[in-house]
Amino acid sequence: MVHIPLSIPHMSGNEMKYMEEALSSNWVAPLGPNVDEMERLACEFTGSKAALATNSGTAAIHLSLAVLGVGAGDVVFCQSFTFAASANPILYQGAVPVFIDSEPETWNMSPEALSRALKEAEEQQKLPKAIIVVHLYGQCAQMDELLALANHYDIPIIEDAAESLGSTYKGRPTGTMGKAGIFSFNGNKIITTSGGGMLVSDDTDFIEKARKLATQAKEIAPYYLHQNVGFNYRMSNITAGIGIAQFGVLTSRIRQKRDIFNYYQQYFKGSNNLQFHQETCGSHNNYWLTTLTMTENPMMVMQEMGKNNIETRLLWNPMHLQPCFKKFDFFEHAEGEKPVSEKLFATGICLPSTTSLTGEALRKVADTLAHITVRSERNTVLQ
Ligand SMILES: *Cc1c(COP(=O)(O)O)cnc(C)c1O
Repeated sequence: MVHIPLSIPHMSGNEMKYMEEALSSNWVAPLGPNVDEMERLACEFTGSKAALATNSGTAAIHLSLAVLGVGAGDVVFCQSFTFAASANPILYQGAVPVFIDSEPETWNMSPEALSRALKEAEEQQKLPKAIIVVHLYGQCAQMDELLALANHYDIPIIEDAAESLGSTYKGRPTGTMGKAGIFSFNGNKIITTSGGGMLVSDDTDFIEKARKLATQAKEIAPYYLHQNVGFNYRMSNITAGIGIAQFGVLTSRIRQKRDIFNYYQQYFKGSNNLQFHQETCGSHNNYWLTTLTMTENPMMVMQEMGKNNIETRLLWNPMHLQPCFKKFDFFEHAEGEKPVSEKLFATGICLPSTTSLTGEALRKVADTLAHITVRSERNTVLQ
């Protein structure tokens, strides 16, 4: 039985050419012409003024916090419903995360919860130094509302657009609406460099500060001089070669991801118990992963799909429930109600969304899901 993966790399066929160029010209070191070209492509694609290629999306988040001067004891607000990489860099800086719940429409940061959290922080004179907003699964957050709040308190937003490269919000690319944005080119993302990331901003000074920190914070001097503690966070010129070729197919990958979503959604059109997460709020999604919520137990569905060699995943387990983050403050979407992020975790899954999947494979996923969920629907009726 063939294995149907959730989201794996999909090569364009041109990757070897750029990698070979790097090797034959001996640009094997980090940095080099491929890295420069990756940064140019990131600016061109997003319309950002400046970009910095990094060796991971996590590094790009970490650098943005460092440039903003986030340090020991500072507070940083972060969306709770996300992957741990959004929040980990807060702790790398010795800062204190405060987690913000999601709203039910986009599944991203709730402006209601953010508003309450900011008000309370202001009263306690502990306003955050930054707010990390995530555009999960390619769906844009409610940026107008979030930006209005952040601007009111004069707090920079960092957009974690790791999953949303190519998505737009009211025509604006994700990653370009806040102070800075980050993308990931990890193997499971819409395009990949095997491992890598990108920091973008319209503030060229911000990017130049990040560039310095990312290369061990060397000062211009005839000897090694360091005023600040730096990092080794740059992208390699070889992996950047993969990324150049991948950028060339990004537009078609977005179309393919959208086709995959539309296929699943059409297949289950009349279903009462499966709710596909559609784009809302002016978002044009890259549909990195097709996601849905259901009346079934998603853990059961995931296990049954697994028995058929089909990989599915539960939705993100929110940060405020993680043992390593539990002790930090959390603001729910609606006071006194079960947090939206917890409801999503308890009811949702991601379906295989690899762009190289054949029509036959997609059909097998849909048939199997239909079989499992219809059967359990019948069981519920019988009980
Ligand atoms: C993948 C991902 C990251 C981290 O990117 P890496 O390149 O793997 O470090 C950060 N945030 C979110 C939401 C992600 O999905």
